[in-house]
Amino acid sequence: EHEITPEQEKEESLPLAGVNVMNVIIVAAECAPWSKTGGLGDVAGALPKALARRGHRVMVVVPRYGEYTEPQATGVHKHYKVDGQDMDVTYFHAYIDGVDFVFIDSPIFRHRQNDIYGGNRQDILKRMILLCKAAIEVPWHVPCGGVCYGDGNLVFIANDWHTALLPVYLKANYRDHGLMKYTRSVLVIHNIAHQGRGPVEDFSFTSLPEHYIDLFKLYDPVGGEHFNIFAAGIKTADQVVTVSRGYSWELKTSEGGWGLNEIINENDWKFRGIVNGIDTKDWNPEVDIHLKSDGYTNYSLETFKTGKAKCKAALQQELGLAVREVPIIAFIGRLDHQKGVDLIAEAMHWIVGNDVQVILLGTGRPDLEEMLKKFEREHHEKVRGWVGFSVKMAHRITAGADILMMPSRFEPCGLNQLYAMAYGTVPVVHAVGGLRDTVRQFDPYSESGYGWAFDRAESNQLINALGNCLKTYWNYKDSWEGLQRRGMTQDLSWDNAAVQYEEVLVAAKYQW
Ligand code: ADP
Repeated sequence: EHEITPEQEKEESLPLAGVNVMNVIIVAAECAPWSKTGGLGDVAGALPKALARRGHRVMVVVPRYGEYTEPQATGVHKHYKVDGQDMDVTYFHAYIDGVDFVFIDSPIFRHRQNDIYGGNRQDILKRMILLCKAAIEVPWHVPCGGVCYGDGNLVFIANDWHTALLPVYLKANYRDHGLMKYTRSVLVIHNIAHQGRGPVEDFSFTSLPEHYIDLFKLYDPVGGEHFNIFAAGIKTADQVVTVSRGYSWELKTSEGGWGLNEIINENDWKFRGIVNGIDTKDWNPEVDIHLKSDGYTNYSLETFKTGKAKCKAALQQELGLAVREVPIIAFIGRLDHQKGVDLIAEAMHWIVGNDVQVILLGTGRPDLEEMLKKFEREHHEKVRGWVGFSVKMAHRITAGADILMMPSRFEPCGLNQLYAMAYGTVPVVHAVGGLRDTVRQFDPYSESGYGWAFDRAESNQLINALGNCLKTYWNYKDSWEGLQRRGMTQDLSWDNAAVQYEEVLVAAKYQW
């Protein structure tokens, strides 16, 4: 009676993506672990693997900035026009975790490993033009596992201004000529602050037909009439993704759109916000390799009460703070205006007036680095200001702290609040961009929510939220444990985000 019907059998053999299985090519200026300056590199490394697990055939195309061990030369040579000049490229390939990684080799990418966005404006522009042009033809020329991807049932995912030219080239050089008829493009906005702006004359570098110039022309009070790559990409892509819903909404406002808000409003119907996933091998308290020594310990939803207490004691010990029961408030991130470090500075006097310990980890603006050190000097019994970039300490602080503050002025997605929640650390954030999407305010009546989210980037609001958070920590132990449990129980993985990306790919595929 437990026999499987032929229909069931067929269903079980289908991949998770079902009938929507597609060829997907992600094109980015950086991809972890080979190249990374920020969140973009993480997304380009993790999203493809999650899409491949759902059954899609997935490729990533990135420049070959250095000598990498796995990728092998394919023997495929091509040349593309950049600024009227023919540029030679060769393609390298590696198949890893179900994904085809294709690297574009050209003299203009070499030796840029630690300087991906270095050089003058025109140098960067030329590199990005070559990347886009060379990436579009990969499915035609580069055999992966013996066969090429071809251009049917294919969607390109371009990322940020660097590859926002790809949708434009796809249209101008191929689709306008009846080529790549079934190929679509999705543009992902990780950060609108950089747009590929330049004087209108920069258009000549692109070698596009003259009538395409209007797509790039943008007028704003600051820059006057100028050349804007993001503008052209948004207009031309079939679908646009932002790295959170909150960010998508903010981009449509004059404060949040950085001059592109009108174009974004006109293309509103293409927009969709999808929060980045986290790497659940790397950022998982159950297996975190940074918690395996020096008195720290791995922990799970079942063991977090004792586990976190042990990690907290280890953290206090490691940093020379008193080992005792006291809430630890942490900050981890780049020290700059975006992250609202100055709000923490303004609130510091109030913060240290409480029975708390404070741990700040970051690098960035020299004056803010100096400030971290000053806080530690002035409040040595309570505060540690660690200036430096330490992945190990970021993990250990996330595990050992009770509260993570993120008063960012803008935050397209934000990862640290996600890591915090996965580790049972309660976030206190400015409700903006991805922080607004991911940290729903705690509601004591319904015992719901994940932390505290204040409305305006002002120090008195940060103080107010921290005050309520500390009150809950001391006086409402059950509510506090509920906050921790809800945070740890969420599915913050890339598998979840990949399902939503798949919906965008399907929308692009059926768009005409
Ligand atoms: P952004 O990309 O704007 O810098 P995100 O929150 O999206 O901000 O990602 C920042 C990443 O960099 C996180 O993984 C965070 O842990 C890490 N990070 C930032 N500063 C430091 C530091 N000083 N030491 C270790 N890791 C850091």
